[in-house]
Amino acid sequence: MPGQETPPGPHGRRRSGDGRLTHALDPHDAGPQDACGVFGVWAPGEDVAKLTYFGLYALQHRGQESAGIAVSNGRQILVFKDMGLVSQVFDEATLESLKGYVAVGHARYSTTGASTWHNAQPTFRPTETGSIALAHNGNLTNTRELLDRVAALGGAAGELEIATKPTPASTNDTSLVTALLAHHPDTSLEENAATVLPGLRGAFSFVWMDENTLYAARDPQGIRPLVLGRLERGWVVASETAALDIVGASFIREVEPGEMVAIDEDGLRSRRFAEPAPKHCLFEFVYLARPDTLMNQRRVHSVRVEIGRRLAEEFPAEADLVMPVPESGTPAAIGYAEASGIPYGTGLVKNSYVGRTFIQPSQTIRQLGIRLKLNPLRDVIEGKRLVVVDDSIVRGNTQRALVRMLREAGAREVHVRISSPPVKWPCFYGIDFATRAELIANGLTTDEIRRSIDADSLGYISLEQLVEATEVPMDDLCRACFDGVYPVELPAPEHLGKHLLELSPVGTDVDGLSASLAGGGARDSLDRP
Ligand code: SF4
Repeated sequence: MPGQETPPGPHGRRRSGDGRLTHALDPHDAGPQDACGVFGVWAPGEDVAKLTYFGLYALQHRGQESAGIAVSNGRQILVFKDMGLVSQVFDEATLESLKGYVAVGHARYSTTGASTWHNAQPTFRPTETGSIALAHNGNLTNTRELLDRVAALGGAAGELEIATKPTPASTNDTSLVTALLAHHPDTSLEENAATVLPGLRGAFSFVWMDENTLYAARDPQGIRPLVLGRLERGWVVASETAALDIVGASFIREVEPGEMVAIDEDGLRSRRFAEPAPKHCLFEFVYLARPDTLMNQRRVHSVRVEIGRRLAEEFPAEADLVMPVPESGTPAAIGYAEASGIPYGTGLVKNSYVGRTFIQPSQTIRQLGIRLKLNPLRDVIEGKRLVVVDDSIVRGNTQRALVRMLREAGAREVHVRISSPPVKWPCFYGIDFATRAELIANGLTTDEIRRSIDADSLGYISLEQLVEATEVPMDDLCRACFDGVYPVELPAPEHLGKHLLELSPVGTDVDGLSASLAGGGARDSLDRP
């Protein structure tokens, strides 16, 4: 038997709650949602399932909808995945059953394909020449074209039936890539990957494996991060260096844009499948990546403190206290306080463990809104002129509720400072903001937004100052959500969108399980209100 994938539980999930522990302070005003975390390890003699578990644990902030781990012992790949947080999906007994020396893992936030068990990753595909399990961070933009290519492969020649049939088809871009990689009747997986990868467009940081080898690849723009680490007895690939730290791996280098690496008993092989044209995601520096991660040789925390310093110079305020919106606003607030000389303080306490729940809140609790997540420290706030530092404004509902709450707690003035420029455009490279119509900065001036959230003043850092704080050349960064210049060409709106593969039945079996696709298109994401 080439491998096995665990079927979903009776309801497609096993634990109570939906496992979504969001960054959003208000469930009706979700902030930017991350695009996934990936982790891979090749380490004979190590407990690779547990290393992957802890690696995913460190990457949980990148995706909270589902989690999965695939492990191979050299003969077969076993995949275990489910809806929920890493700590909800895996327990000691499950990890004990995943024995082997090569593994890949994934923590998902959905950007193409609904948030369902069938779209959870790693994706798995068995063939007569071996199996493949793949995990993806990013979002492809030529999904429609890839669907046609998968359809043209014809009747799944050389591919095996697997035990979970019949189940609903997966509807994510990753399954299409898995199908293309798995179809290599006349060549090795490695050679086939070198021909498939140049045909992909958009953002992809992949880790994948067959029974013996760990592979990783990053799109030519390097939009999403991917790093390489070394264990005493093996190698690790992960979305962020924070995941290397947690498993005791030393950081070696980034996987380069346009590079594919293969790791097995012969060591590490690298090849370039496309010329690098770096366009790193600017938003990773502002919000997405962990502050303790190293990105472009800079600690993200230090970059954010520097952003705060520059924000203070661009938008000073007469105030008594600088306070962050915890936790993502904290480093920039530290920098703002440092540069302005205004004391830094904690004015809001966050209840970090409030996520979405299936328990319906009573009307009384529903009205508390943002208070489910944040509680103001009245003693600190009362009578003060506050500078409140946050990372971004998406719809504005959160900031409006926040300002109201601070005023109710006795704040004399509330000056809002934002450590990113206004978000005016949606992201098609793996971050889920909102549609254009929902973005408050699309159509309103800064002063109109200030009035809408009822702040005494509002200042966003400029794009130029933000970019300078990163020390990455402007031309090497994707800034599309701020300036609308998309570095990787987008197809027609009807060929974009989270639910593209759920749009209309096309009769194509994207994951080798069954085929019934229906979905969306992104015209609503791009259209102005
Ligand atoms: S559009 Fe924004 S969030 Fe998306 S990759 Fe570009 S900078 Fe990052």
